[in-house]
Amino acid sequence: MPVNLGLDFQQLSGTLIAIISILSAIGIAVWIALTIWTFRDMKARSRDTFGQILAALVVAVLSIPGFLVYLILRPRETLAEQYERALEEEALLQEIENRQVCPGCGHATKDNWRICPYCHTKLKKECTNCGELLDLPWKICPYCEIPQMEESRPARHQRPQPYVPSFDDIGGESL
Ligand SMILES: [Zn+2]
Ligand SMILES: [Zn+2]
Repeated sequence: MPVNLGLDFQQLSGTLIAIISILSAIGIAVWIALTIWTFRDMKARSRDTFGQILAALVVAVLSIPGFLVYLILRPRETLAEQYERALEEEALLQEIENRQVCPGCGHATKDNWRICPYCHTKLKKECTNCGELLDLPWKICPYCEIPQMEESRPARHQRPQPYVPSFDDIGGESL
């Protein structure tokens, strides 16, 4: 019987050692995989090389608890997601900027309206040459390149202009 028991013990310890070595191999593989995964994941979320190495180090040293800490503290968005969100925000801003509103009453207006139907504010002027609709501050027509007279502000034309002798005047005086 003692011989049998000794054999059993040897078998048992052999099996135990096999199980332990398999488990530790799996543990080491998981540990390495987690460390590499953390490094790659951090790389996708931050351009900071120091941060990438630090995150991988934390997981390498602390193993699963370190991985849990990383999962809690990692940047919420990947760089790709950040970029996408920035593009979306920019598109939204552009849309808001492009939406036309009446400067007088704030109602939405359309591109080809000359006057606001709500408060009668003048929105556009016609080109004196080709008749295309122009924004009020434009001083030249972008369609036909003709400079625009400021018809909306006649007061300016009545202001006396300082006298500047032209070449003809000087020539006429000397004759
Ligand atoms: Zn208006
Ligand atoms: Zn024109």
